[in-house]
Amino acid sequence: MVINLDQTLLKQIEEICVARGVRLTPQRKRVFELICANKKASSAYELLEDLKESEPQAKPPTVYRALDFLLEQGFIHRVESTNSYISCCSCNAHKHHSHLLICDNCSNVIELQDDSLVTLLTKNAEKHGFNITNHVIESHGICQQCSSEIEE
Ligand SMILES: [Zn+2]
Ligand SMILES: [Zn+2]
Repeated sequence: MVINLDQTLLKQIEEICVARGVRLTPQRKRVFELICANKKASSAYELLEDLKESEPQAKPPTVYRALDFLLEQGFIHRVESTNSYISCCSCNAHKHHSHLLICDNCSNVIELQDDSLVTLLTKNAEKHGFNITNHVIESHGICQQCSSEIEE
């Protein structure tokens, strides 16, 4: 598969890795490229199949290790409800919680960041003496493009 990616984005994550002193191996980079190239969220299985085109010896742990690294660095997000992965819309930002809009028709995922939403959830939990350590905020529905196609 030939990937025509925004090279500035790749350069950006390369520089972030250098600055953090972590290693962006060719495999990790390739998995990131594959996730970015896919408009929909990618499953680990799809990524493995695509990775095998350039690395025939790739096995599931190869993909999972690369995904763990990319998640840890905040370059990608896991879509919990569909068990798949998307690239982050602001890779260079600090770690953040996103609100994901998932289209059930075309599997497109839109990432939103709204700190006030997270603050509200934290406040509501605090009323119950609950300390939140992680959020999964995912909404399912139909995206704009799909709904306009349905209307036609
Ligand atoms: Zn993000
Ligand atoms: Zn859609």
